[in-house]
Amino acid sequence: MTKVLTVGEILVEIVATTRGDGFREAQPLIGPFPSGSPAIFIDQVGKLGTPCAILSRVGADDFGQVNLDRLAADGVDISGVSVAPGEATGSAFVRYREDGSRAFIFNIANSACGRLDATPEGDALIDTCGHMHLMGTALSAPGLAARALEAMERIKAKGGTLSFDPNLRPEILDTPGLRPALDRVLAQTDLFLPSGDEIFLFTAACDEAGAVADLLARGVRDIVIKRGAQGASHFDAKGRTDAAPIAVEEIDPTGAGDSFGGAFVSFWLAGAPPATALAYANAAGARAVTKLGPMEGTSTRAELDALITPVQGH
Ligand code: ATP
Ligand code: MG
Repeated sequence: MTKVLTVGEILVEIVATTRGDGFREAQPLIGPFPSGSPAIFIDQVGKLGTPCAILSRVGADDFGQVNLDRLAADGVDISGVSVAPGEATGSAFVRYREDGSRAFIFNIANSACGRLDATPEGDALIDTCGHMHLMGTALSAPGLAARALEAMERIKAKGGTLSFDPNLRPEILDTPGLRPALDRVLAQTDLFLPSGDEIFLFTAACDEAGAVADLLARGVRDIVIKRGAQGASHFDAKGRTDAAPIAVEEIDPTGAGDSFGGAFVSFWLAGAPPATALAYANAAGARAVTKLGPMEGTSTRAELDALITPVQGH
C-alpha cells in the first residue's frame, strides 16, 4: 500500500468557548488540544489504517508530547518528527466572531516547526513514501515551506502523487513567497481539495464550472470542492458527483476539512471509485464537526460506516 507523507505544523490549539470580538470577550478558553492541519489530516489517514507519516518538528515540551502520543496511537509514523530541546511547540488560538466566522492567532513561524530542517531521519522517511499531501499552512514559514516543497518534488520525481489543500487562512496570506510556492505546488497537483473561494486561486474563470474545467485542462486529475454544511462535490474528466451533507449537530467546525481530506486521500489511493471516496470523506467531515477540539473528531472506518449506512430496524 502506498505510504502517505505530509509535512507541516504540529500545534496545540486553545479554543474560545463563547463568541466574541476579541479573546478578552470570548472566555473561557480551553485546551490544549492536539492540532495543526497536517497533523489532523495525517491522524485521519492513520485511523483508517493507511500507512502514513508526518515530517515536522516540536519542542521538548508537554505540548509536543500531547501530539506525538496521539499521532503514534492512531498509527502515524512519527520517526520524521524532530524534538528540539529549548524550543517551543507551535500553538494556535481560535475564537468565533459573533457571525460564526473564525479568527486565529498562529504561532508557527517562531515555533519549533517553523524551523524544520533536513535530517537523515527525514530524508530516509521521504524515500519510503509514494504520496504527498500538502497544505497551504505548511507554506507559512520559510524553513517549513522549503522542506515541504523539497519533499513534494522528490516524491513526484519518483512517480508518486500529490494532493493539495490550500487551507488558506487570512492570517497567513501575507507570508513572503507564498504565491510562487502555491503556483509551484499546483503545477504538481494530481488531487486538488479547495474549499470556498479557493477554487478560484489559480484561474481567471469567474464561475465554478469554468474554474473546474480550466484546472482539469491544466493537468489536475481530480478536484474535490468542500462546501462546509452544504456537503461536497467531486469532478474529474468523467464528470461531477455530489455528496449531500449528513445532518449533524455542529459543535466545532475546525478540522473538518483536514479530516475530510484524510479520508478522501485514503480511499482514493486504495483505488476506490470517486463516489465512494467522496461519501467517506463527507462522513469524516460531518463527524469532525460534532466534537470540540480540532483533532478530536477524526474517525475510524467503523465510525464512518455507521454514518453512511444508518442502522436499520430500530
Ligand atoms: P477547515 O479548514 O476549517 O478544517 P474546510 O473549509 O477546509 O475546513 P469544510 O468545507 O468546512 O472544510 O468542511 C469539510 C467537509 O466536511 C464539507 O465539505 C462537508 O463534507 C463536511 N462538513 C463540514 N461541516 C459540516 C456540517 N456542519 N454538517 C455536515 N457536514 C459538514
Ligand atoms: Mg481547510
